[in-house]
Amino acid sequence: MTVVRYERRGPVAVVTMNRPEYRNAQNSAMTYALDEAFYRAVADDDVKVIVLAGEGGHFSAGHDIGTPQRDAHLSFDRRAALWWDHVGKDGAESRFARESEVYLGMCRRWREIPKPMIAMVQGACIAGGLMLAWVCDLIVASEDAFFADPVVRMGIPGVEYFAHPWAMPPRIAKEFLFTGDRMPARRAYEIGMVNRVVPRDELEGQVLALAERIAAMPRMGLALAKKAVNQAEDLQGMHAGMDAVFGLHHLAHAHNAETSADSLAGMDPKSMKAAADGS
Ligand code: ZN
Repeated sequence: MTVVRYERRGPVAVVTMNRPEYRNAQNSAMTYALDEAFYRAVADDDVKVIVLAGEGGHFSAGHDIGTPQRDAHLSFDRRAALWWDHVGKDGAESRFARESEVYLGMCRRWREIPKPMIAMVQGACIAGGLMLAWVCDLIVASEDAFFADPVVRMGIPGVEYFAHPWAMPPRIAKEFLFTGDRMPARRAYEIGMVNRVVPRDELEGQVLALAERIAAMPRMGLALAKKAVNQAEDLQGMHAGMDAVFGLHHLAHAHNAETSADSLAGMDPKSMKAAADGS
């Protein structure tokens, strides 16, 4: 089964994460399949808008930290960061190399895709899943969608693509991180992180209708408008801020590796879920 599906619907490319049995947990195979799909959509002159979707009940439960297809130990053909392979390296060197490529580097690469991207979010959008929604230009969520970054439970100050204080007001970002609580779609809409909230059974129809409206605009106008807003965010410190926080993120991984079972402080999907349910 392919981990990412690609379909053309008129001027819209729909890219769908396809590991519903694991709530679309993102392993490296999925990361590179997404990159391949986005590359294909950018290269196709008939595609004006890209929709990123998740098959099944949930958009994405985050990075794969525990499925049978977890592949963090494998080499892939690197294309986001010009850094050496993480395989065969030890400790922080290996983690920094890997996360520079598959997390921060890939997300930055996708944020710069010169065509509008819409995240179509239902159910869970957690941690690494947030990164995928955040690299999209627009987020349309169904009423059952929720967002959370619970990695502070691992002693880590947020996911690798640290867009939190740009995706939401700083005080809300702190509450989001400090509690790890789920932010419902309605709340995400209120704070401006989500463009629209729609009933679950209307999600796909409304996203495609919005994509088609955008697709009527000229390609160059869309690409430049996107770049203009991205540049403004970077002038507000987003790019440099993320680099600074990436260092803190890796300090946390290294601290965990020194003082506990592993770089995730011994947490796995089961213990993360238990901690979330107990709160
Ligand atoms: Zn990390």
